[in-house]
Amino acid sequence: MDRGDDDGGGGDEVAATAAPPTDVPAERTARMRRERRKAQKKKKAPPAVDHQPNVMSELPFALASSAAWEQLGFTRTESTQKKRKRKRGDSGGRVDSEEEEEKKKKKKQKESQRPNYFVSIPITNAQISAAVVEVQEAVLQQEPRLVKAMIPAPTLHITLLVTHLANQEQVGLAATALDKAMPSLAELLVGRDLVLPFSGVGHFRKEVVFVGLAPGQHRDTLEKLAEVLRRCFEEQGLLQGDSRGFEPHLTIMKLSKAPKLRSQGLKRVNPDFYSSYTDRFFGDQRVERVDLCSMLKKKQQDGYYHTESSLQLVYM
Ligand code: AMP
Repeated sequence: MDRGDDDGGGGDEVAATAAPPTDVPAERTARMRRERRKAQKKKKAPPAVDHQPNVMSELPFALASSAAWEQLGFTRTESTQKKRKRKRGDSGGRVDSEEEEEKKKKKKQKESQRPNYFVSIPITNAQISAAVVEVQEAVLQQEPRLVKAMIPAPTLHITLLVTHLANQEQVGLAATALDKAMPSLAELLVGRDLVLPFSGVGHFRKEVVFVGLAPGQHRDTLEKLAEVLRRCFEEQGLLQGDSRGFEPHLTIMKLSKAPKLRSQGLKRVNPDFYSSYTDRFFGDQRVERVDLCSMLKKKQQDGYYHTESSLQLVYM
């Protein structure tokens, strides 16, 4: 054996077994060299373990989390990591857009059910309106930015219920509901004028400021009146279960009228602004009629809400 060409014992062995016995020495040496090179190439071939991820992917836990893979002793190659990231990104994006679509749908649905009509008792006593304007002016002297939150005097009212009417047909049904309430209201009011004495100033979460209704029997009657109307609207399928209890109030300012104030940091109306009016008597309002009003349509010439239908209350 020529030690000069010899590059390893294993090579010798392979060459010796592979060479036919009849070869001349030169040919044999050349063949031995070729065999040795082949053997070396084989040695350098990638180890079997490199193929393992492919094999593993056929197994049930191939879809397990990356943490599980690592616990099992496998490390992911960079390309697999990228692939997984991309996949997660893709499906993540899809989930995002699906969620966004769902949100948009719900928002649209909510908007399509947002109250756009209400039944109200208008404030027709000028003494009450004048006293309300006085409070509003006092507040504005302390915080002029609240001007847009003020309820204009011609629109002052007491809300009895709010509803969403999707079309003119439903507006007609609401007018019918008002008419149908008449016998029950007449029964409720027989022999009695319903007069509402307004006094004091209160608030809902410092976002809505209102003149309150003094205590007394009239409160009970007013609540029953609102209840009759609710029932009639429900019977026409026009109430979507507005669950907030009826709390009679005469709104004089509300921040929701001026949403920009919130971004300016004005999120509450400080009760100190109207503290000198908390015991003030504002006046009596005789309930003459109830109106079905639109929240969105252009106001009437007299400044009051667009009124679709009215029910004149008759006292006997
Ligand atoms: P309105 O007098 O109907 O213009 O109502 C003024 C605001 O007061 C509306 O935004 C109502 O959502 C809110 N509101 C009415 N009743 C209540 C109540 N019982 N509690 C809290 N907020 C109310």
